[in-house]
Amino acid sequence: MVNSRNTEIISQITSVSREIGQAAVQVDRSRDDITLVAVSKTFPIEIITPALQIGHRVFGENRVQEASGKWPQLRREFSEVKLHLIGPLQTNKTAVAVSLFDCIETLDRPKLAKAIAGELKKQQKSLELFIQVNTGSEPQKAGVLVEDLPDFLSYCQNELQLPITGLMCIPPVSEDPEGHFSLLAKLADTHNLPKLSMGMSSDFPLAIKCGATHVRVGTAIFGQR
Ligand SMILES: *Cc1c(COP(=O)(O)O)cnc(C)c1O
Repeated sequence: MVNSRNTEIISQITSVSREIGQAAVQVDRSRDDITLVAVSKTFPIEIITPALQIGHRVFGENRVQEASGKWPQLRREFSEVKLHLIGPLQTNKTAVAVSLFDCIETLDRPKLAKAIAGELKKQQKSLELFIQVNTGSEPQKAGVLVEDLPDFLSYCQNELQLPITGLMCIPPVSEDPEGHFSLLAKLADTHNLPKLSMGMSSDFPLAIKCGATHVRVGTAIFGQR
């Protein structure tokens, strides 16, 4: 099944991956330390398939309902897919999210933490969890405030025994992201969290220089939404 749209997606994912490697080398990091989360939100199965066919396995979706309409079918066709939830999670969708995703990057409040802990036990499942930090203190944006992170992290780890491995942020659109990336890296370091999800199509090389272990790239791979 070769057509020009498929060829384009394959060439774009290959070039994003190469750029990740180049950014890593510039700061003496290894390409293998950085995971490309290909953000497939809004795109149908036919557009996602070429990326899977060339062996890409890590994808990001921002809506539980949309993801549950696409990925069970794709997973029957392709093994070892890793799915990251990168959008806000409503507590009433926790059960579906826990069963569908391998990593939830947007944990940001005690009620959700508690619901996830309950579901992990119920479903006997393990998954990776990142806390989303609202580094720009934007009122409309999800994520814990920087000053609330220590208490929230302690609640998740000590009270709920949740496997928190990293932090995630989405910098304010109107600001230079570098300060936000550096801040998130510093917070992760302070709290001994090894994973850092930051950087999107427009700024992933910069995020890698600041320490990103996961970059979430949509448009540069699949095109405009
Ligand atoms: C959509 C989205 C992305 C991808 O953005 P692009 O600019 O298309 O690369 C990354 N992170 C989050 C949280 C998103 O919602």
